[in-house]
Amino acid sequence: MAVHPFQCRCGTLRGEVDEPRRAMRAVCYCRDCRAYAHWLGQPDYVLDPLGGTDIVATHARHVRLTAGASSLACMSLSPRGLLRWYASCCRTPIANTPRQWKLPYVGLVHTCLAQSRPLEPDFVPVQMDINTKSALGSAPHRGGPGMMARFGAMVLRLSAARLTGSYRKTPFFVADGEPVAAVHVPPKAEVDAARQVAQ
Ligand SMILES: [Zn+2]
Ligand SMILES: [Zn+2]
Repeated sequence: MAVHPFQCRCGTLRGEVDEPRRAMRAVCYCRDCRAYAHWLGQPDYVLDPLGGTDIVATHARHVRLTAGASSLACMSLSPRGLLRWYASCCRTPIANTPRQWKLPYVGLVHTCLAQSRPLEPDFVPVQMDINTKSALGSAPHRGGPGMMARFGAMVLRLSAARLTGSYRKTPFFVADGEPVAAVHVPPKAEVDAARQVAQ
């Protein structure tokens, strides 16, 4: 079975993604993803010239940590926002997940995936550009309605995990559905400062 390794920039936190060819890939130009990259202090390693973040979307059960799990930290830009997982050792972004573990969507951030070898050909090339209106310039529009529909179908398939219980296999939540690390929501002024520089 094919796997693609990932690791933080200092190499403490390591893991693998199973079945990389089944993952989907999008660049997100939203202001939240951009503010997050700045909050981490890693814009140069995360953002493309248009302020986009390259994301690999898959089922949480395909993601496994192999070393340094105690470095896995979690933050959210707001009390109800997406959970954003990163390596606390060197502040490398790892993945974003919903707060609800029963929707086992994982959006892996390219930075950790590109440390050992390039994303391609293990993963497909970027299929879609999302939130292009907030790009820092004229973003490409890869994908279109057909790809949006495929992405929607993937999320629907992930929702079925509710019935099969497959959401229980995840490195991000423990058996009662609590995140494996405390969710840190920075003070609003800190988030606002990151948003300011991310403009
Ligand atoms: Zn590290
Ligand atoms: Zn985003």
